[in-house]
Amino acid sequence: MSGAWRLEAACRGAPLDVFFPDNGEDAGPARQCCGRCLVHTQCLEEALAWPAVLDYGIWTSTTPRERGFLRWLARQAKLQAAAKASGSRQLTRSSNG
Ligand code: SF4
Repeated sequence: MSGAWRLEAACRGAPLDVFFPDNGEDAGPARQCCGRCLVHTQCLEEALAWPAVLDYGIWTSTTPRERGFLRWLARQAKLQAAAKASGSRQLTRSSNG
């Protein structure tokens, strides 16, 4: 994990416990901070790419469970794209031969 984008993170210097609320604790303050962050796209990409490391706390306003759902959606989109491409290749083959 790396990235100069971290220097622009709105959470830079913020108390860590805000981003790691205990069960039942309000994630609102973390989400407010993320809401005014200019690098949330980079943050979310990283949080989704490193589930084993970053599946704790609030990243880009998302909880670990929400990030799990986003990963599932991304997998579904990939599968659909692959199925569509496969169908296109089959159509191309059958139309050529
Ligand atoms: S989106 Fe939130 S967690 Fe991510 S860098 Fe910005 S403030 Fe920090």
